[in-house]
Amino acid sequence: MARQIDKLRNIGIIAHIDAGKTTVTERMLFYSGAKHRVGMVDKGTTVTDDDPEEQERGITIYAACVTFNWKNVHINLLDTPGHVDFTAEVERCLRVLDGAVVVFSAREGVEAQSETVWRQADHYEVPRIVFINKMDREGADFDAVFGELSNRLGAKPVAIQIPAGAGPAHTSLPFYGVIDLVRMRMLSFDDQEDALDIQETEIPEELVDTAQVWRLKMLEQLAEYSDELTDLMLMEEDIPESAIHDVLRQGTIQQSFQPVMCGSALHGIGVQPILDAVQAYLPSPLDRPPVVGTLVSTGRKQEEEQVVSRKPAVDEPFCGLVFKVVPAKTGDISWARIYSGQITANSRIYNPGKDKKDNVAQLWQIYATRKDPQGKIDSVQTGDIVGIVGLRHTITGDTICDASDPILLESIEFPETVISMAIEPENTTERDKLEDTLEMLMRQDPTLEVFHGDTGQTLLRGMGELHLEVVKNRLLREFKLNVRFHKPQVSYRETIANKVEVTGECNRLMNGVQKYARITIRMEPNEDVTHGLAVVNQLAPDALPADCLEATFDQLRNCGSGGGVIAGFPLMRLKVTVLDAEIAEEGSDDVAFRIATKDAFDRCLQAGKPVLLEPIMRLSITTPADYLGDFVGDLQQRRAMIVSTEAHGDRTEIEAHAPLKELFGYSSAMRSLSQGRAGCSIAPLNYMPAPEEDLSEFRF
Ligand code: GDP
Ligand code: MG
Repeated sequence: MARQIDKLRNIGIIAHIDAGKTTVTERMLFYSGAKHRVGMVDKGTTVTDDDPEEQERGITIYAACVTFNWKNVHINLLDTPGHVDFTAEVERCLRVLDGAVVVFSAREGVEAQSETVWRQADHYEVPRIVFINKMDREGADFDAVFGELSNRLGAKPVAIQIPAGAGPAHTSLPFYGVIDLVRMRMLSFDDQEDALDIQETEIPEELVDTAQVWRLKMLEQLAEYSDELTDLMLMEEDIPESAIHDVLRQGTIQQSFQPVMCGSALHGIGVQPILDAVQAYLPSPLDRPPVVGTLVSTGRKQEEEQVVSRKPAVDEPFCGLVFKVVPAKTGDISWARIYSGQITANSRIYNPGKDKKDNVAQLWQIYATRKDPQGKIDSVQTGDIVGIVGLRHTITGDTICDASDPILLESIEFPETVISMAIEPENTTERDKLEDTLEMLMRQDPTLEVFHGDTGQTLLRGMGELHLEVVKNRLLREFKLNVRFHKPQVSYRETIANKVEVTGECNRLMNGVQKYARITIRMEPNEDVTHGLAVVNQLAPDALPADCLEATFDQLRNCGSGGGVIAGFPLMRLKVTVLDAEIAEEGSDDVAFRIATKDAFDRCLQAGKPVLLEPIMRLSITTPADYLGDFVGDLQQRRAMIVSTEAHGDRTEIEAHAPLKELFGYSSAMRSLSQGRAGCSIAPLNYMPAPEEDLSEFRF
């Protein structure tokens, strides 16, 4: 089932929670004909929020894919969650998207979380269109939000529409339609709930001047990117619509600016024009640069890594990236973005990161609703997104490719887990069920980590309180497990304070052989190592036989992914240099070197003065100015550092850094401080040495 690549649009809708992503998605599906009724978030009848947990909370937790046609393009749309505990989901989507529609509320404007998401989109170089939603709300202010786009986000907004009116029906000039600045026409939308028709008329008298001012502003902005447009403007000639479209398309794809539109998704105003803009201005896979990865040669000689790229073309060798795994009774579905080449059902692919072959048993197309599967397909080509059934070794973030032309794409970056929760199954049967369930959850969600303690406890690690609460509810309700949950705890890290050099030794009789090995390593703190440790080899080239060398480094990696000496928390910020090794005539083998390396490593951790690191969070709080004093007082109690306070109209923004330990239950504390009128976004920032008393908790 081949699709024309230039007719494909892989897009996402991203925004702050409650800005209206799900409502916009529902409207898009409805207008495209993929769905015959408009689902309503408030009634729990939407397509993308089909997880019971989501319907209950009314927020989109697990990104879902939907697909539909609009005019002559085929749109694959990924709905993304807005809550900060689920940023990994957003990251994963951004990684595989070609473009995005960013939704803002005309009333709330640019909020803390929108900044985070905007920066993520910058990072992944995703071209964007902006939709200012909720123009029908009391206090909706297009100009203010338009201004915030550049002031707060550093965006380059170009208004291609302006609203006609603003606010709800009972106000003096309610919002009733949008003015298209490219064609200089007024667009009105039938006020029926399932309105399909758009009426195009002359711009109303009283809005002509305003529209002309905005159009001139748009043309001047666009002229910066087009000599043709500049000339036409200088000669005061009529500017053909197609010339404007061309610049808008080029500039959007090159991320020189973002076209800005407006409307009210709830009332069906302005949604079809967004789809037209997706078609006209957002890139097809062909417009995107080739993907870059490393060439993996078999054998683990990382020094020989070579950078390679794949063009978005069917005749290139196949490569793709798995960005989501969805469990299903009939076998997990792994959603993958195909970057080059093609794959067919009943074939085999290669997972270069794991050095494993995997089976592609079936291919599934994304479908518009669960009840209406368009079903299995035989093959899928460059640029598309596909569900693969049959992969056993491949998880979220993995590259898949042609075994004869391996390429390893840059994996998706996942933030560190900062919170943990112990769980205990009631009995052994439950334990087995729990293990299976957790294994499945981890394949879906790479930000969930599971550890097994010696005491029969299982430890879950995640991104925040809400993240673990969602996992907990799924285990209880969806999988009906009989497990006890402990209170969530801070997930600390461990490192050392001082540089040390230690010689580890193995010199013991094992099975009648005197095993001997000595290895000298230097361990030092290193801020750049955000995960585990970095290992450097300074041994003379022939200091050790290959198997002993391999054993030594493998053991160092094992030690690095194990825990520290304070309480077994994950290690970070460590650099280990292997300086010297000594072998005997006999009895120096890989086993001896494993023992000596472990000995050296453990002694380094002790001698280097262990340090407990606690996660520090970045808080962005928006509150009515009256509560500023209360917030600052409360934050100081929580060992927070106030970074800035800034007034925006009658609201104040506070940015603060605070230890996670002091932030348990902060969302409800914040609500009661402000009678529910403040908003907050919390994201991991870095790690800092924890106070002495925290350390003593772990010293028995
Ligand atoms: P999401 O969290 O970004 O997916 O936002 P939702 O689509 O769930 O919408 C959040 C709330 O805003 C819901 O109660 C919607 O009914 C409401 N909403 C969405 N769009 C509009 C709009 O254009 N106007 C008004 N007044 N409310 C809207
Ligand atoms: Mg939603």
